[in-house]
Amino acid sequence: QLGPRQLSTTSGDFDTANPPEVRRVLRTYGLTPPAVESYEVQAQRCLRLLAMKTTPIEKFQYLVHLKATNVHLFYRLLSENIKELTPLIYTPTVGEACVRWHEIFTQPEGMYLSYHDRGHLGEILNNWPHDVEITVLTDGSRILGLGDLGVNGMGIPVGKLALYTACAGIRPDATLPLTIDLGTGNKALRDDPLYMGARMPKVTPEQEKEFLDELMAALTAKWPNIVIQFEDFKNPFPALERYQNTYTMFNDDVQGTGAVIVGGFINAVRASGVPAKDHRAIFLGAGSAGVGVAKQIVEYFVKEGLTEEEARRKFWFVDSNGLVTLDRGDKLADHKVYFARDDNNGRQYQSLSRLIDFVKPTILMGLSTIGGAFNRDILTKMAALNDKPIIFPLSNPSSKSECTFEEAVRHTEGRCLFASGSPFPSMEFGGKFLTPGQGNNMYVFPGIGLGAILSKATSVTQDMIYASAESLSTSLNKQEVADGWLYPDIRRIREVSVVVTRGVIRAAQQNGVDRASELRNLPDDQLDVYIKERMYDPFDEKANVADEISQLLATASG
Ligand code: NAP
Ligand code: MN
Repeated sequence: QLGPRQLSTTSGDFDTANPPEVRRVLRTYGLTPPAVESYEVQAQRCLRLLAMKTTPIEKFQYLVHLKATNVHLFYRLLSENIKELTPLIYTPTVGEACVRWHEIFTQPEGMYLSYHDRGHLGEILNNWPHDVEITVLTDGSRILGLGDLGVNGMGIPVGKLALYTACAGIRPDATLPLTIDLGTGNKALRDDPLYMGARMPKVTPEQEKEFLDELMAALTAKWPNIVIQFEDFKNPFPALERYQNTYTMFNDDVQGTGAVIVGGFINAVRASGVPAKDHRAIFLGAGSAGVGVAKQIVEYFVKEGLTEEEARRKFWFVDSNGLVTLDRGDKLADHKVYFARDDNNGRQYQSLSRLIDFVKPTILMGLSTIGGAFNRDILTKMAALNDKPIIFPLSNPSSKSECTFEEAVRHTEGRCLFASGSPFPSMEFGGKFLTPGQGNNMYVFPGIGLGAILSKATSVTQDMIYASAESLSTSLNKQEVADGWLYPDIRRIREVSVVVTRGVIRAAQQNGVDRASELRNLPDDQLDVYIKERMYDPFDEKANVADEISQLLATASG
């Protein structure tokens, strides 16, 4: 007999796939319809239900419901339809869900910690019923491109952790979506009667720092190996600088984004046929994203044999005031100084087109938020200069992309090596079927998280982040390479995550921040086996029934 255990809908106690013996042990026999269903039948019903919903937000709500009522079935469906379902559980739909969170809320998922709770954060964490391996933490202050949404931002940690589970097999109950409520600058939300957060303006940066200090210590005291991923903070840098050497934390907006772009970039450089030392890059946009990406590319060029000085000189940055130079006469923002040119000899910047004539770049990167900036003239010039020009219009969303995939293909006669921030459709050109690369963070953050978890890393080092990029670049299969892809097929994400995870673990070991010393002497193939064994598999029925139930089942049959 099963003891006082409460039946749980979430864990699949009422799963229509449960065979009669499981139903008997659970005492759910008779509480579900008689048929014992296969996954294929269940999936068919789910997909039909999904098709019946007419708007993305209704589909989103259905999937929330499915996760709450049968978590394994949800992840079976998600992992088999990752490409089709990700836009519904994450961007773009999650953005709309966050904007309307206070209107569509039906049940809590994750934890909320408020500024008023300070001094007691550890006690409140004790209310969480599971052991946590990873948390995604937001204050809701810059949700996607949608601004400050306060506690409505919870959709982001929830969605992102679902991707950690689907892409890297982190057990669902080892994930903690966490939203801190430090007030919101969004007055419309504060005044909305349905809003569910504190109706106060955002606390000061000093107060935020004290709160985060307490939170980081409390999380790590309760779960000593926890990985803490920061997401969608308006200003990500203070927390990253303050905690990255003392806690196992990283910021995906800054570090994951940089890594995923570099991963595709490495493959573009390889495919270009031009050696690293002969590349020259123009970056349109010198914001935190542009400069952050370029710094990681410097790391790559250095690994390819250049000195840091040589690598640094391969970049020409353009911002809203033109070419970033030391003698421009305005006070450059600190982050722009490193790449500022001193060799312009007083020449004035006139246009991107003229700069291309002068620099003769092999690489054109767009992080400017200026939609269409890579116009026909620009793209034609890149095609005239290069056999295979590297064109990365990375601004989001698609309307701000510096060019579309189709424009890049047409104006370079199909020769460009292309990756964008936002998705574009595949197309036919010159009798070939061409697929654009998309620098989607999903390629790296699941593996960074799992690598940090499995190595029991005490911090997430820059080398671990870089390793995720480099490993991603090696994860393409023969067909993908032959087709000229820069990123692997997202449908193979679980395999890709194994490769990324291995690279991250190796880097943790090289940096000496790993605590799982038993993994140090495993050769790569055995480490891969270890990683795969540790990954949650929603199809593994045996592994997914609770321990006490499997014991009862064993006694019943034995
Ligand atoms: P940001 O800080 O606002 O930077 C924008 C940069 O573009 C600034 O340097 C700005 O110049 C420059 N700029 C603005 N107008 C320009 C013009 N007319 N000509 C030339 N430069 C101009 O933004 P960010 O955070 O760096 O992000 C930039 C873009 O990258 C966003 O669209 C974001 O979505 C995208 N992004 C994509 C990915 C990805 O693909 N996964 C990752 C991160 C970011 P000033 O410095 O003079 O203002
Ligand atoms: Mn983000």
